[in-house]
Amino acid sequence: MAGLRELYQEVIVDHSKHPRNFGELDNPTFRKDGFNPLCGDKLTLTISENNNVIEQIRFQGCGCAISVASASLMSEALQGKSRTEINAIFHDFHQLVTQGHNTILEIRLGKLAILAGVAEYPARVKCATLAWHTLNAAITGDTKQVSTE
Ligand code: ZN
Repeated sequence: MAGLRELYQEVIVDHSKHPRNFGELDNPTFRKDGFNPLCGDKLTLTISENNNVIEQIRFQGCGCAISVASASLMSEALQGKSRTEINAIFHDFHQLVTQGHNTILEIRLGKLAILAGVAEYPARVKCATLAWHTLNAAITGDTKQVSTE
């Protein structure tokens, strides 16, 4: 399994060094900041929505490789998805990164399953889920500051 693990790490390094959808939208439907004080990860999401479909996601900020790669992978995976689809993906993703490898979830999540390994490192789970909690708060209109603590 070492080869597979290295491949996963390469994808995470690639997304952390060359994040997809980095930046911000001019006229977003939603804007939300998220913060993970345990690690110091910070990000701002801007999201455009049309007819309950998330059309575009951009993120800015700084953080560890896991938090940046997770935001990058999330932005790729969720663009073009409906709120209902996003709720289902978020639920699967959260279960995978908190409970660890699960073949059914990994098949459903595809590329996002690369982050399953963080389940072994509880502090890293917060890095991996920061962007997701921030997106969820943004689209559900939660006005509280998003913090993983
Ligand atoms: Zn982090």
